[in-house]
Amino acid sequence: MNTTKASWSMRKCKICKVKFEPVHSSVQMCCSLTCAIEYSKQIEKKKWQKEKKVLKEKLKTKSDYVKELQKEVNKFIRNRDKDKPCVSCGKPLLNKFDAGHYRSAGGNPELRFNESNIHGQCVYCNQHLHGNLIDYRIRLIERIGVEKVEWLEKKHDPKHYTIEELKELIKEYKSKNKNQ
Ligand SMILES: [Zn+2]
Ligand SMILES: [Zn+2]
Repeated sequence: MNTTKASWSMRKCKICKVKFEPVHSSVQMCCSLTCAIEYSKQIEKKKWQKEKKVLKEKLKTKSDYVKELQKEVNKFIRNRDKDKPCVSCGKPLLNKFDAGHYRSAGGNPELRFNESNIHGQCVYCNQHLHGNLIDYRIRLIERIGVEKVEWLEKKHDPKHYTIEELKELIKEYKSKNKNQ
């Protein structure tokens, strides 16, 4: 009869995995000193990892946030366009393809997160043909209409995001990407 009770109250040491009987329900380890030391090391390590994360976040610059947001936006575009052909050459997209900008992100930072300006594009067109823009334009007109394409081609006012705005957008796209 007692064996049932004993095995129920027995617990596995978090460190050495040996079964022991805890004196209190909060005890996670056997009474060996090695385990106690190892356990406190693990706690310290976890604490440091948390602190490191906070520090890293504090040291991030605006351009780090811009990069992070671009990564999320591009992921969104790749998901959106995964069943479409390459926006430039029209060939089916393979497993690995890019989110290619029509107006380049470097030359037109105010359009770098604009969803009409970014489309699923094969790696060849994006990286080897510098975006294959003449063909891009033809298929872009089919997709979003000539008016929107001409709007993209206009000169745009510079857009200055604050870090807070960037953070907000990153959050937005992360949750969009999760639900896709
Ligand atoms: Zn132990
Ligand atoms: Zn292509």
